[in-house]
Amino acid sequence: MADPQCRNGCDAVEDQHHIFVMCTRYAEWRSSAAQEILTRTNNKLGEKGIKEADRVGLLTIAKSLFTDNIDIWPLHYSTYFLGHVPKFDHALPGMPDADRLTRTRLAHHLACDWHTACIRLAGRIWGDMQREMAKKTNNHG
Ligand SMILES: [Zn+2]
Repeated sequence: MADPQCRNGCDAVEDQHHIFVMCTRYAEWRSSAAQEILTRTNNKLGEKGIKEADRVGLLTIAKSLFTDNIDIWPLHYSTYFLGHVPKFDHALPGMPDADRLTRTRLAHHLACDWHTACIRLAGRIWGDMQREMAKKTNNHG
């Protein structure tokens, strides 16, 4: 039977949630991906003329995509690695000068951008796991 313990040395069971959200081996990748997404989202909102105070809700969600946050994830833990993006319509600031279409486009843009960032990070981590597994297999041979 396979050892359920994380192969990267964490004191935790190696399941999807652990690898993608918790595992310390990928902490840096997660935090730099979160920083990038935060910066991009902030720039986009600035472009749309949204005041800094009104950006807070969306920025909080953006920086929490790769971590468990009971306020943004319906099941209380992140499923970004499945390409999921939490609902954020409630956090979209009111844009009194913008028409509906502009607002819809912004929501769509953010959903796509966040989704892409989720898939990219998950792919990067998955690729590393595969490489590590291959290395171990080769060493045994
Ligand atoms: Zn681990």
